[in-house]
Amino acid sequence: LRRKIFERSWVEIDLSAFRTNLNILKSFLEPQQQFMMIVKADAYGHGAREISKIACEEGAVYLGVANPEEGRLLRLQGCQAPVLILSPCLKNEINTILDNDLAVNVSSLDFARALNKTAKTKNKQAVVHLKVDTGMHRSGILDSEFIDFFNKIAKMDNLLIEGVFTHFASAENDPEFSKQQEERFWNIIDNLPFTPTYLHIDNSNALVNGLGKHSNLVRLGIMAYGIQVPGNKDIALQPVMTFKTILSQIKHIAKGESVGYNRSWTAKKDCLYGILPIGYADGYDFMLSNCGVVFLDNKICNVIGRISMDMICVDLSPIEHPAIGDVAILLGGSALETRAENLVSKYGGNSYELLCQVGRRAKRYYF
Ligand code: PLP
Repeated sequence: LRRKIFERSWVEIDLSAFRTNLNILKSFLEPQQQFMMIVKADAYGHGAREISKIACEEGAVYLGVANPEEGRLLRLQGCQAPVLILSPCLKNEINTILDNDLAVNVSSLDFARALNKTAKTKNKQAVVHLKVDTGMHRSGILDSEFIDFFNKIAKMDNLLIEGVFTHFASAENDPEFSKQQEERFWNIIDNLPFTPTYLHIDNSNALVNGLGKHSNLVRLGIMAYGIQVPGNKDIALQPVMTFKTILSQIKHIAKGESVGYNRSWTAKKDCLYGILPIGYADGYDFMLSNCGVVFLDNKICNVIGRISMDMICVDLSPIEHPAIGDVAILLGGSALETRAENLVSKYGGNSYELLCQVGRRAKRYYF
């Protein structure tokens, strides 16, 4: 684990682990199903450009982003795949949508009219996916109002309805409610004047839980990035992201002395502790104060004291001969303890957030 020190922290992205996870998830697809790779938030912190490339090689027919700017960046990076903006957009984003040939979630008539009007002036067809709110109550048109909405959009000459979709509120842990959402969705689809090319419901959890089997597009996110979801621990996914740093200082502390802001950790005996040059500004969550763990020299070391903006402290007691420059794994890697899902369980957090927030001070390396 020792290596020459080049950087304070860095992120290794294991693209072959990503391919392996994707292939595991693909084995759950029904014969008529294709997949969209969700690459919003810079592919959950992994790098949208690189992840999109591999996802397309592995058969993704669509990429999903959160907003027009993320789509525009993909285009700037040379990505030509179909891209869907999943969140509702603002009217002042319409030019970006059309100029970059991005497909868009349409969940409001007012926005649809504005999009149609601008598309006409540009002599373009805007590709739209209409979202049904089947119970998540975030974006989307309520199922009771959807058919009327669909018919109005269908009359707009410069909009092409390519998809209809919905999103589960609790795909991972509420099969009863998910079933209700699915029923509402298919009820709508059965009553449409025509069936658009793509009907999509599932995220990764929903797919492996056997939901949405009659859809023809699945939106894969978190599990492709190797996050094990509660209830699906027997699916052997590998973390794609490993966040690393180095041991930058080694110090002695005497029994009874404390470490860090607010003196929240006190040494129970004389011991060695180390300083790692990353903190919450690098995305190492403040909530990991006094409860995080790092993997150093093949041992698990406890985070001691509060996480600072640019430094954390770890108890070096488990390590026989610590040395400055030793590599510490903060997140991901082969140890179970540093997997995102285990770290966030210590403070009631969320793996999606932990991945997304790994800061850009740490350069991404792909292999
Ligand atoms: N579909 C939509 C609309 C989403 O917002 C997301 C992620 O937040 C996904 C699919 C992917 O979900 P997951 O990462 O749980 O697979």
